[in-house]
Amino acid sequence: IKIKITKIDIPVAFASAFEGEIIRRKDMQVEFDGSRVDCAELVQTRDMSEVEDHKITVVGPEVDEMEFGSKNSIAYVVEVAGKKMQPDFEPVIERKFHNYINCIEGVYHTGQRDMQRIRISIEAFNAGFRIKHIGEVLYSQVKNEFAAVVDKCQVTIYTDPAECTRIRHEVAIPVFDKRDERLDNLTDESVDVYYSCILCQAFSPSHVCVVTPERLGLCGAVSWLDAKATNQLDPAGPCQVITKERPIDENLGSYEDVDEAVRKFSQGALEHVTLYSIMQDPMTSCGCFECICGIEPFSNGVVIANREYAGMTPLGMTFPEMASMTGGGVQTPGFMGHGKHFISSKKFMKAEGGIERIVWMPKELKETVAERLNKTAKELYGIDNFTDMVGDETIATDPEALVEFLTEKGHPALSMDPMM
Ligand code: SF4
Ligand code: ZN
Repeated sequence: IKIKITKIDIPVAFASAFEGEIIRRKDMQVEFDGSRVDCAELVQTRDMSEVEDHKITVVGPEVDEMEFGSKNSIAYVVEVAGKKMQPDFEPVIERKFHNYINCIEGVYHTGQRDMQRIRISIEAFNAGFRIKHIGEVLYSQVKNEFAAVVDKCQVTIYTDPAECTRIRHEVAIPVFDKRDERLDNLTDESVDVYYSCILCQAFSPSHVCVVTPERLGLCGAVSWLDAKATNQLDPAGPCQVITKERPIDENLGSYEDVDEAVRKFSQGALEHVTLYSIMQDPMTSCGCFECICGIEPFSNGVVIANREYAGMTPLGMTFPEMASMTGGGVQTPGFMGHGKHFISSKKFMKAEGGIERIVWMPKELKETVAERLNKTAKELYGIDNFTDMVGDETIATDPEALVEFLTEKGHPALSMDPMM
């Protein structure tokens, strides 16, 4: 194995060998957790005059001012400028933060957008590692890897909770929403190619995401447009073109081209992957799914849980329990990791009947996706306010009470064919 060592001015090592390193709670100095407090990671394109190269600013407390073992907010905004820089490249650069921060010895990173989670180990802290060093790493790596488009780069890291709340809600989320909206007019049928993504193979060596306009990567951070931009920036990189010239079954979303691509990029671990089925050759999951969908046999439907949801689901499993069944790059028919945005897609488990199968979601998630999901339900089935028929934890967390609620509401899944 060739280990690439990059010289960065930080008090711990930085190498791809540390990418898979996990920091247990007992070894941790502090953590940051976007699923519990306000966090964000964001790249913004600026004019050359607005960016001071290598300026790193920390707004709020440093690690030594945080209570040992505490959960904190963090938001970092990386501002870049360059003649060839395009806003289309912002999410591509952003998605690399996961790799960059993970390459730091004693620092662990998962998630993305406003859901990242970071742990700093006691050892790294004792070696002198501080928040500002995250800025050093982001600066150096962005300049290294995106030299073709980034001429100047500055990093501001917020740890002040009020500032993190402001950055998350007033700056980052509107940017993420706008990006998501750009995809709305694209369908899988309207494009000539899909893209693979293998960014997560550091953790899940056989995992391959197939990214299409109507099915974004399960991390929620790689849309078809992002994959396309990644391929433009780095033609030999993690996102490769997948042609779609040889369909096998349009309903399942299976293609000879897709099978060939996943076979190649999984080094033979995967033979067949469908784009639209949760039961037949479903897409694999790494560990970064925003949501997990699992079949609920009593109602012929599916339950969806998101990472932020800490409670119980009608499957008798919590999100981490569902995650342990779904991740690791293996195919688990009946369970599927996916992005939040996919929930309102017309391709969401289309082979099994589509979004009509959704019988339960945590209340907060339901509210987040309601507008888009209801629009899709109206278009596909003529149902008004579909989410009113979908259960949540305030209605039921056991299958009997859920079926009772669904019956009362006349939920369509009850009269559909069993999924298994
Ligand atoms: Fe790429 Fe999929 Fe990992 Fe997202 S989850 S970074 S799309 S491999
Ligand atoms: Zn992943």
